[in-house]
Amino acid sequence: MEEHMSRNIAIDGPAGAGKSTIAKRLAKELGYVYVDTGAMYRAMGLFFTTRGVDPHNKERICAAARDAVVTLSYEDGMQHVYLNGEDVTGKIRTEEAGKMASATSGFMPVREHLTNLQKELAARENVVMDGRDIGTCVLPNADLKVYLTASPEVRGKRRYQELVEKGEKADLEVIISDIIKRDEADMNREVSPLKQAEDAVLLDSSDLTIDEVVEEMKKMCREKGLLS
Ligand code: C5P
Repeated sequence: MEEHMSRNIAIDGPAGAGKSTIAKRLAKELGYVYVDTGAMYRAMGLFFTTRGVDPHNKERICAAARDAVVTLSYEDGMQHVYLNGEDVTGKIRTEEAGKMASATSGFMPVREHLTNLQKELAARENVVMDGRDIGTCVLPNADLKVYLTASPEVRGKRRYQELVEKGEKADLEVIISDIIKRDEADMNREVSPLKQAEDAVLLDSSDLTIDEVVEEMKKMCREKGLLS
């Protein structure tokens, strides 16, 4: 059997730790494809919302999941997420979609479809993939695994800043408490909970700038021979 030759970097961590910003930058530096797996769970979440499926109704979620096909495409290096053929990239970046994704991502039929797609992509392409279970479940043989985190306060402030910059109304206290709730749900679910893989490097970005985190990750890549 031919061995897989693509290079894979896995970045996991809680909501708002800066995974996507960092993973995107790193992918660019390395010339790899950036895969945002959260976007795929958000697209699934959107599917359930538009169908009016109660996120706590396991049977209905599992039955409905069969009718949702999520695919990815890359246009000018940007990831686009499709839900049953419709480009939903612009619709999934809301707090609501994040909550719905978290509420429904613990169900096996939802995960199976998405993790298969993620594995296929990583077998074909060099990827920097971010999510919650990449190092533990999706890419257990990744060349480099990083668990990126930051304190809930710092993560909450970053999210708050983002919303304010977009001109949206935001309440810092509510954002921090939502972040803590989402972490708890993601860490305590039965299927593929968020946790640091044994062989992942822990990186706390609470006191680091984006540039500093990227530099730190580039150093790790050099040590692994992924970057000269
Ligand atoms: O990273 P993002 O905030 O877009 O993820 C939304 C939700 O999708 C997470 O809170 C989590 O429940 C789920 N998710 C997951 N596994 C992944 C990526 C995201 O369960 N690999």
